[in-house]
Amino acid sequence: MRFRNPFDRAASRQPFAYRAREDIVKRSTTPPSRREASFPPGIPLIVFLLLSLFLANNSWAYTFLSTGLYHSYNDLAPWADDLQTQNPNLVKVVRYGTSHLGNPLLAINITVDPSVNNPAKPEFLFTAGIHAREVVSSEAARSIAEKLINGYRGGDPLYVNMLATRDVWIVPDLNPDGRLAFEAGASAQRKNMNGVDLNRNFTHRWGQYPNDQSTSSDTYCGPTVLSEKESSSLWSLLHEIGKFSNLLCAVDFHSGAQTILPPWSSPIDNRDNAGQIPPAVREKFSALVNTIIQNNTARRSLNPLTPKIDSTRLDYESYGALSDSIYEEFSTPLRTTYATTEELYRGSYIGSYPDSFFSYFNPVTAATRDAAIQNAVDSALYVLSDSAFVVPEPSTFVLLAAGGLVLLAQVRRRRRA
Ligand SMILES: [Zn+2]
Repeated sequence: MRFRNPFDRAASRQPFAYRAREDIVKRSTTPPSRREASFPPGIPLIVFLLLSLFLANNSWAYTFLSTGLYHSYNDLAPWADDLQTQNPNLVKVVRYGTSHLGNPLLAINITVDPSVNNPAKPEFLFTAGIHAREVVSSEAARSIAEKLINGYRGGDPLYVNMLATRDVWIVPDLNPDGRLAFEAGASAQRKNMNGVDLNRNFTHRWGQYPNDQSTSSDTYCGPTVLSEKESSSLWSLLHEIGKFSNLLCAVDFHSGAQTILPPWSSPIDNRDNAGQIPPAVREKFSALVNTIIQNNTARRSLNPLTPKIDSTRLDYESYGALSDSIYEEFSTPLRTTYATTEELYRGSYIGSYPDSFFSYFNPVTAATRDAAIQNAVDSALYVLSDSAFVVPEPSTFVLLAAGGLVLLAQVRRRRRA
């Protein structure tokens, strides 16, 4: 079965008011302003003083351990290996390298007969956890894997057909070292434990933003392109011969905003004619993003989501990002790779720095966590569906050809008459 590139529907051309993005988050985390109040003396005064004392010394906030809502990175390998053991003809765990500190980098390949590389199956890649503190993204990636596997095992024709015709790859934790530090209490941890923002270490316009060149920056791009083991190992996996020769779609899940970001993240590309995305591709991206948003009730209930199509509106630049690099590297003249950065959730700062970052990037109740995860599952199921990337059945061609012949015959008969 061949996949044709998609979206004949015209993209809506409404201007997108783009504001928030997890990467922008650098503001201070002062607790909510404490209003001055004058209390009459007596018991209210005591209450007021006790409350003031509590607020002044308040260091309480949600943390990875206190919420207990998320799996640990340490559970990842046993969980993935168990999926493979239970589903040997559907799941293959690939250890594609080790991190800076020697932790395994792990990908899960889900498709019928994963040991056979079938070039007719297009690949779909879902990555998460490149920024350590965005743990809800990793949780979402695991949920996508379970959803696909359970759907297939249950005999649901949707999933049976999906996994027979698509080659799904899920990488739940792109940054294991940072993630483990985050779990141990470094709630503001974003970069890897070599001090590099992995989402600035990839190929597209790497290092072209001055702010990213400072080692103290939270967006430090690293000393050279793909300098980090986490990024270079992923890049090598993606370039293994035959594995990703038909990469149709790649979604990199983040949190800290409610938005879907297609290329480019670097406004310089939009100023430079040579770097502009072809209008037809741009419209297809727009259609994809809009459909995901419109179909996604969980996302709407969390926060209004703003797709970013026009990078020139950004007040922030990112270079060397994974999804931009995948789009540039894997698209061919005949087939675009639909690579996006998908931001699943934005909360609020609760408590004092640095723990207040936890609640900004991650839901702190089971209900909001599940809704954020549902965002990811819904959009993954959409891009994996036939309606996102149209799969014309052979019968469609036969019908069209037959119709064309009938029409031609009628035209000829009229001319003869
Ligand atoms: Zn992020």
